[in-house]
Amino acid sequence: MASNSSETQKDVKFEDIAQGKIQSPAAYDFRSDTVTTPTPSMLQSILNISVHGDDVFSEDTTTNNLESFIMSLTGKPAACFVMSGTMGNQVSIRSHLTQPPHSIVMDSRCHIFNYEAGGAAILSQAQMIPVKPANGEHLTLEEVQDNVIDSDDIHYAPTRLICLENTINGIIMPLEEIKKISAFAKEKGIKLHLDGARLWNVVAAGGGDLKEIISYFDSVSLCFSKGLGAPMGSIVIGEKDFIGRVRHFRKMVGGATRQIGIATAPARTAVEEVFLGGRLTRTHELAKRLESSWAKLGGKLKFPCHTNMVWLDPASAGVDESDIPTEAKKAGLKWDYERIVVHHQICDDAIEKLEGVLEKLVENGKARGGAQSPEMPRMARYSRRVDQDLA
Ligand SMILES: *Cc1c(COP(=O)(O)O)cnc(C)c1O
Repeated sequence: MASNSSETQKDVKFEDIAQGKIQSPAAYDFRSDTVTTPTPSMLQSILNISVHGDDVFSEDTTTNNLESFIMSLTGKPAACFVMSGTMGNQVSIRSHLTQPPHSIVMDSRCHIFNYEAGGAAILSQAQMIPVKPANGEHLTLEEVQDNVIDSDDIHYAPTRLICLENTINGIIMPLEEIKKISAFAKEKGIKLHLDGARLWNVVAAGGGDLKEIISYFDSVSLCFSKGLGAPMGSIVIGEKDFIGRVRHFRKMVGGATRQIGIATAPARTAVEEVFLGGRLTRTHELAKRLESSWAKLGGKLKFPCHTNMVWLDPASAGVDESDIPTEAKKAGLKWDYERIVVHHQICDDAIEKLEGVLEKLVENGKARGGAQSPEMPRMARYSRRVDQDLA
């Protein structure tokens, strides 16, 4: 049985994966929940497709079924499958905005601002207004109000859209705050979009009812390929005319595809098996366990651990962050920087090994006499992480 991420996959046979005989190569990988691999039932769902239709003609039954299934799960009247979370956000933004000049208010740490190649500026000609939440966790109504441009003064780009993200860095946005921001946006005639790539985790952790949270937004993008472990894809939900525009822009960016049931069948299985099947709960429990192991070693966190991410503050326990990938590799783990991500394919053995690595990191720090290694040279914001997974 293949059990270690360092083993090559050359001997892996499809039959063995399909029968669940092989552990996922993600079992020892803490870099992101995007590393999850299709489960036997996800692969089987592809083989179970009886009719492969063309989704550009809306004739792919599997895809139509996934969209209806998500509509009933979320309470929104229309849905459109897209290739990725980035595509979901970008076509949503494009579909909400009309005539520039216009601006979007968002959390400065969010995916749309940082990790979508500046897409909103290019595809939607929008000025992005990033706001840093003072409480270190989530944006508040007051911060949104202070930053929205509600004026026809010709110097400004009026705000037509607010984008929230939940979870953001694994942090749950309180439902009360969402409600207040939603009421404010409605009153001002500003659209409200949710990047809900990991909204499944919010619901699994008790941060609100899926339908209720979604009801406060004009549009939501949900991801199948992160914590849920499907091989690819996201879905955008909203009102019918909005989703009509989403389909138009999805076509324009090359995201309308043909027999895409091969992606939408496993996406549905992922929702049923991992989200409805309750598998996210274990990932949150394991994250909590890692948080307390780290606390026992004297370590603090950079962000609270609400769901499946543990953000270490390495310096708080005398740890040099650059030690992380080396010590992780020695233990047979993949883990690259202060962020630990737990997903449904992480095995118990990997958690024990990671706890061993945490101890070793702290020991290394003590052996250096608490001294940090020479200061890393200052670099451009993201250059250090070029080869790392920012997903
Ligand atoms: C990963 C992620 C995305 C983008 O998803 P891709 O499928 O990688 O394009 C968008 N938003 C959030 C919050 C994400 O974590």
